[in-house]
Amino acid sequence: MKFDTIIIGGGLAGLTAGISLQKEGLKCAIVTTGQNALHFFSGTFESVKEPSQRMTELFSEAGIRVHYSEGVRLMPLGTFSEADLSLEDVSLFPQPKIGRKALVVNLTGYHDFFSSFIAEGLEKQGLECRIRFLSLPEFSPFSAMRSADIARKMDQAWEKVVQEVRLLIKDEDTVVLPQVFGLTDPSVPGRIRQGLPAQVAFVGTMPPSVPGIRTQIQLKKRFEVLGGTYLMGDMVENAHVHDGRVHSVVTKNLDQHYLEADSFILASGGFFSKGLKSNPFEVSEPVFGLDVDFDSDRNTWYNPSFASDQPYMNYGVKTDSALRACRDGVAIENLYAIGSVLGNTRPEFGSGAGLAIRSAFAATDEILKNRKA
Ligand SMILES: Cc1cc2nc3c(=O)[nH]c(=O)nc-3n(C[C@H](O)[C@H](O)[C@H](O)COP(=O)(O)OP(=O)(O)OC[C@H]3O[C@@H](n4cnc5c(N)ncnc54)[C@H](O)[C@@H]3O)c2cc1C
Repeated sequence: MKFDTIIIGGGLAGLTAGISLQKEGLKCAIVTTGQNALHFFSGTFESVKEPSQRMTELFSEAGIRVHYSEGVRLMPLGTFSEADLSLEDVSLFPQPKIGRKALVVNLTGYHDFFSSFIAEGLEKQGLECRIRFLSLPEFSPFSAMRSADIARKMDQAWEKVVQEVRLLIKDEDTVVLPQVFGLTDPSVPGRIRQGLPAQVAFVGTMPPSVPGIRTQIQLKKRFEVLGGTYLMGDMVENAHVHDGRVHSVVTKNLDQHYLEADSFILASGGFFSKGLKSNPFEVSEPVFGLDVDFDSDRNTWYNPSFASDQPYMNYGVKTDSALRACRDGVAIENLYAIGSVLGNTRPEFGSGAGLAIRSAFAATDEILKNRKA
């Protein structure tokens, strides 16, 4: 099978690259193993701050609702964290004292939303809090359900939740709800806000992240609507590289059928997604055997203080100025590395979601420029 570009990894970076190239008329395939960091996404786009015009277009064309202001957001354990560009579900506040009185609403039997920690955190900020549990008999028991299971049911039940919460509110100016709404319909969190007579803070649950899964679904759909091929549940195992170029890749499922392309993008993520691997002696990139920037003294890989920044998180694939990945010190002519497989080797692109999107744009610009040349 022959494509213009093959992308290895279907997370935020790979999908951004695929959408950008399909929009310009290239024929792309994304090969991706499975879950990616979006399934754990908080809803805030790290290191983006105010989105560029190009990012705004990417989001709006995929139907992804975002909003931007510099402020704080309420976290799952009741603490506050600085946040700016976020999905519309995430409530941004100018300061941690977000109101006067809060009603924290959980679902009876649901253990993945920490209402008492959240109430404690809000009380520390001077809010009075009440915790109440909603019982929706047609959906019980919630105890065995994860956020995504509940969200699937909530797509039909959210109006009933609004009615029930309205009955629970006394004189509270703030309602806190778990982030389990709008899995398939991004307008639902906004409609819940409109339906309640108090400001609403949706707060994250234990993974998977409902807004993150929705974002993944929307990006994948956009890529496929543009004509892209998304090969889910497959894995690129190795590649044919000679004369300084990648000619094809071999996947687990397609076995003898090589995937050929003019250019390739490695968007396989960091350690979490197995885009990078390590043993006691080295950090490596498993598909192409690319050069990885890491410290040869293993004792420097980590910081014994658990909460501190961990140096190994900075390790990543080495690239030239055009994001072409290097092997044995030489850039491979048609292989680009983007997203968290880069670690912190290219700080000019930022970190987290900012790195994923900006490096994807930069690599796709290079591919398009080289086609025209
Ligand atoms: C748990 C977690 C939570 C995070 N939360 C946030 C957040 O809230 N906000 C934020 O800004 N950033 C967050 N980040 C940072 C995150 O890494 C980036 O935001 C971004 O989503 C990374 O995208 P990516 O496409 O580079 O990598 P990933 O999302 O990791 O995607 C890589 C994909 O490649 C696939 N893959 C790997 N190897 C192969 C192979 N050989 N063949 C085929 N497929 C392969 C993987 O299965 C995976 O699906 C988080 C990271 C983690 C690990």
